[in-house]
Amino acid sequence: MLKEVLKQIAQRSRFVLTSHARPDGDAIGSALACSEILRSMGKEADVVLSDPVPRIYQSLPFADKVLQAERIEGEYEAAIILECDSIQRTRLDGFENQFLINIDHHLSGRPFGNVNWIDPKAVATAEMVHRIAREAGVHVSPEIASCLYTGVLTDTGSFVFEGTNERTFALARELVLAGADPSRCARSVYFGQSTAKMRLLGAALSHLQREGKLAWFWVTQEEMERFNAIEEDCEGLVNYALSIHDAQVAILLRELPDGRFRVSLRSKGDVNVALAAEQFGGGGHECASGCSLDGPLENALTRILNLFRPSDSIQ
Ligand code: 5GP
Repeated sequence: MLKEVLKQIAQRSRFVLTSHARPDGDAIGSALACSEILRSMGKEADVVLSDPVPRIYQSLPFADKVLQAERIEGEYEAAIILECDSIQRTRLDGFENQFLINIDHHLSGRPFGNVNWIDPKAVATAEMVHRIAREAGVHVSPEIASCLYTGVLTDTGSFVFEGTNERTFALARELVLAGADPSRCARSVYFGQSTAKMRLLGAALSHLQREGKLAWFWVTQEEMERFNAIEEDCEGLVNYALSIHDAQVAILLRELPDGRFRVSLRSKGDVNVALAAEQFGGGGHECASGCSLDGPLENALTRILNLFRPSDSIQ
């Protein structure tokens, strides 16, 4: 399928690249690297996202070129959609008449494009983008390497998640040899947080609940407003609950302005949380998934927790 992706790229010259809303390090890193790889191949490439580049990724090379929009406008010959298991996840309109190249590594990936390269064995979409560069004979510059390294670093949870293997480290090594600075990439990601996020973390932890292998907590809309927090300040909070020694599954519920809840699920590997998210129309990976649930909080909690309780267990 990589060959087909390259064939379609070779036949075209103007591309728009995008990824999912609330972009994470792999979404941003893959899109930025892929756009630069295309430019190295003599193509024109714009990166369009529905959300702004989160502050911790703003120092990545080419991040200042990202366009924020609600709709794809412009004369493009193809759209490359990275790290999205559906078009809806881009939260962008305007794909109706586009030739779609779908590149994704989610287990819940769907073949919504004209060309679909879905490889759940890849630890990050960045790994797949790196393969594009290699196969196309494009030189991986230090800038491209930094974007890809950030994608791998963040989507493996700093080389912690299930699926991290010798290939991951071989890839990281290759990217470092190509000029990615591991310390600099990590510093931006892990020491670039906002004060609002730390306050939100405090509120979330004050709600922490335990039951067997489960650990869960939530943040309310009132807390979001009180701390002046924005959506991206919620990224990664769920990992604090997963860090408890005997927690196998961590769940964060974040209240939305309309009273619904965004649910983030994380697993240490024994439980497949993608299956849980899919029950409610969401998706993701075995160890990291998400979905949305109607409020109020008690209802949302009951629905999600019951999936993991012994009688209904999805395991
Ligand atoms: P997060 O908890 O960070 O929102 O999401 C964790 C993982 O689950 C990400 O890889 C993300 O792509 C996936 N994910 C989160 N929410 C959804 C959703 O509503 N639908 C699908 N298909 N995947 C989701």
